[in-house]
Amino acid sequence: MFSSTRTFVRSSILHRCKSTLVVAEHNNETLNPVTLNTITAAKKIGGDVTVLVAGTKCGPASEAVSKIQGVGKVIVAESDAFKGFTPESLTPLVLAAQNQFKFTHILAGATAFGKNVLPRVAAKLDVSPISEIIDVKSEDTFVRTIYAGNAVLTLKSTDAIKVITVRGTNFEAAGAGGSAAIEQAPAGEYKSALCEFVSQELTKSDRPELAGAKVIVSGGRGLKSGDNFKLLYNLADKFGAAVGASRAAVDAGFVPNDLQIGQTGKIVAPDLYIAVGISGAIQHLAGMKDSKTIVAINKDPEAPIFQVSDIGLVADLFKAVPELTEKI
Ligand code: FAD
Repeated sequence: MFSSTRTFVRSSILHRCKSTLVVAEHNNETLNPVTLNTITAAKKIGGDVTVLVAGTKCGPASEAVSKIQGVGKVIVAESDAFKGFTPESLTPLVLAAQNQFKFTHILAGATAFGKNVLPRVAAKLDVSPISEIIDVKSEDTFVRTIYAGNAVLTLKSTDAIKVITVRGTNFEAAGAGGSAAIEQAPAGEYKSALCEFVSQELTKSDRPELAGAKVIVSGGRGLKSGDNFKLLYNLADKFGAAVGASRAAVDAGFVPNDLQIGQTGKIVAPDLYIAVGISGAIQHLAGMKDSKTIVAINKDPEAPIFQVSDIGLVADLFKAVPELTEKI
């Protein structure tokens, strides 16, 4: 009797203490959409959700976070040290916040940003990082994919603090409707002696980013040259779509590697994915098979892409794509 009462008390304390820190990804002005998906994952874990916004003049980004439903508190750190959002300066800040607030979970999106910062945090906390979860089963049990997305692994973490990156495409974006308090993050000297941000050159494009695009037109080796990608840009323009590519198309130099979709490229899940001249290797499917509707154009009826496509067109792309573009 006594022991069951004690168990009850202890588990209710554990429940009350559950709290998650989400490390926001942003450009000081606006949030990267993956932050909204990560907040949804944090809400699924349960307990309080705190979001850390670190940057230079990041007032607009922290305001935006405070208005998201389910966010309990925003902690803000503004300093030149966070110019360029280098992991060397962010890691000690996350650790200082952890030291002060004693979170049970620390989350970030599974992007280059999150994958740079959180493994460092996990190493310093002496816990195992959990990478790219696709679902939350409970506060200590998470789901991720393995073998290029062909198998699903459910894992239970026994670490006291769970440090997790989240695959954005598997969680809905958290909506507006919050009014969280904004506080200062713990003060400290976060400037790294190891590295200093100098400058960055971002690719400028009038097209939508692959991550977050509702429609993606993607090309493979079947396009035969970079010039022929013009066919896909023309089609994409009809939808306001982003353009992606297979690794074979990238390796052949048809398009730059930031267009690559797949296991070693970007993971996308648009409403519509049009795969043109792509065979459908498992490493490519790993990056796009969660798309809502998949259309494949390929001249080989046996191409594996047809096994995952909702609509398949067995045709020569050099004839089918211009026809399709004209008809839309
Ligand atoms: P192919 O397999 O050569 O297919 C070309 C297709 O075009 C064929 O199906 C052909 O029938 C069709 N075709 C040709 N001409 C026409 C035409 N005129 N009209 C219509 N159809 C035509 N791949 C990725 O995409 N992303 C990754 O992230 C990735 N990561 C990898 C990681 C590892 C560790 C490894 C080993 C491989 C990885 N790959 C990745 C490579 C992958 O295995 C495939 O080699 C690649 O996806 C093939 O690209 P593709 O479909 O464009 O080319």
